[in-house]
Amino acid sequence: MTRTGDVVTQSAKDNLPDSNQQAAGSVWLVGAGPGDPGLITVRGIEVLAQADLVLYDGLVNPLLLRHTKAVCERTARARRDGSAIVPQEEINRRLVEEARAGRKVVRLKGGDPYIFGRGSEEAAALEAAGIPFEVVPGITAAAGAGEYAGFSYTHRDISSAVAFVTGHEDPTRSPGRLDYAALARFPGTLVFYMGLSRLKEICSQLICHGMASATPAAVVCQATLPSQKVLDGTLASLPDKAEESGLRPPSLIVVGECVTQREHLTWFEKLPLFGQSIGITRPEEQADTVADQIVRMGGEPVMMPMIEIQPVDNAQSSVIRAALQRLSEFDWIIWTSVNGVDEFFRHLNAAGLDSRALGRSRLAVIGSSTADRLRNYGLIADLVPDQFRAEALADGLAPHVNGRKVLWARASRGRDVLPDRLARAGAHVEQLVVYQNRDCDTLNADVLHRIQAGTLHWVGLSSPSIARQFSVLLTNAGIDVATMSTKVATISPVTSEAARAAGLVVHAEAKKYTWPGLLQAMCFSK
Ligand code: SAH
Repeated sequence: MTRTGDVVTQSAKDNLPDSNQQAAGSVWLVGAGPGDPGLITVRGIEVLAQADLVLYDGLVNPLLLRHTKAVCERTARARRDGSAIVPQEEINRRLVEEARAGRKVVRLKGGDPYIFGRGSEEAAALEAAGIPFEVVPGITAAAGAGEYAGFSYTHRDISSAVAFVTGHEDPTRSPGRLDYAALARFPGTLVFYMGLSRLKEICSQLICHGMASATPAAVVCQATLPSQKVLDGTLASLPDKAEESGLRPPSLIVVGECVTQREHLTWFEKLPLFGQSIGITRPEEQADTVADQIVRMGGEPVMMPMIEIQPVDNAQSSVIRAALQRLSEFDWIIWTSVNGVDEFFRHLNAAGLDSRALGRSRLAVIGSSTADRLRNYGLIADLVPDQFRAEALADGLAPHVNGRKVLWARASRGRDVLPDRLARAGAHVEQLVVYQNRDCDTLNADVLHRIQAGTLHWVGLSSPSIARQFSVLLTNAGIDVATMSTKVATISPVTSEAARAAGLVVHAEAKKYTWPGLLQAMCFSK
């Protein structure tokens, strides 16, 4: 490689393999981590972004699929929620065929691809077919469960070894491949994968082969997810306890003294929204940051967009382009949503212009999120009202706009309070529609089912129109919005008013009129 100091010369650069690119017609076997969507590797996210096709297994958190634009297919091998079983040979064959067809394929697997994951069988099939592949490790369930449940398998005062053991022996092989006598003597922590349905046998086998029946043991279900449950006891007591609690897979059985550390090491279950599932009614494109915030607070984000955001049509794009050429005429430019800011600048850039086109105009926004988004474009808002509502924005602007030209970059639908009040204050208001917002006409069946079954704890409503639409969709689906168990939190008093007028009961209202404010409100009234 030719280097000039630290600078790689152009000719040398041309010859360097690009570590981020893999040839078309290849496969990445990627570990998705144990459940929490934050527990995938940086490399895993990089390759998801480049894939044409993602085949993911039943343990993968679907929230990870937002890192890809690829076609995504689930290949559940175990039949849960009625999904078809795809045999391993079929998956191997698919990987080979898709790669041969020239696709970049990600095989996304729960935890780590090679730990009880049959990833090595897939790699071997690819090797045999001459398909190039790369393997990206993942955090295996045992590693995730240790930290999130609060035990260190190898705490130096307790255990010098840890063994990952299958609790579900391959039934096609001769029985008894696992040597329980050896396991019972193992000088350290035992972690059983795939063992919940055999918990009783595993515990009794260990006791039969000499392990003390008082040995601490635990079951960790749905580790690293908001639905995580940890049940602890001893080898003697755990099976009965587990039966009574009706635990749900996937789960691990941990045997050893380390289980007792949980008392001091719990943190995940103390997060403010732990165990709470929260419906995000924002348009899909804007839901990611809120979803991340919910996950980091221990909750489960559930996407349920009420409004669809779309770019304007060609005719309106021409109108926008013409208006953008006259930006310097305006004394004030106003944005009332993050999306309005993004779409405005998308059109500005498409017209070959940048923030300098705003010239001497002063800038007003409706709230702190919109102000933050403006900062992304290097601009600081001159006016942000204390309250997130059009009335407050109009009141703040009124003293400054008499005889002035004002441009409002708005959505196709919204209230007319702002232009009406500004016109009354003597402003010449020009309204420029920079994006379309439409009601979604259905709610996905899974979300409806969860509301009916009482397994969606909260829904966050972030505007009056979203509140009204939520009520309409639920009522159309035969749900009584006044008595449903899903609690409603709203982003502001105006939204609460609209929600109540639409028959909803409001359980929490944000003090700060942003999504983080909304989530805070849920924490306080949990
Ligand atoms: N390759 C995966 C394991 C696949 S085998 C990994 O490295 O984690 C499937 C088993 O993994 C399940 O039966 C269960 O024992 C365990 N498992 C996977 N995800 C889990 C989770 N979130 N919580 C508890 N156990 C989990």
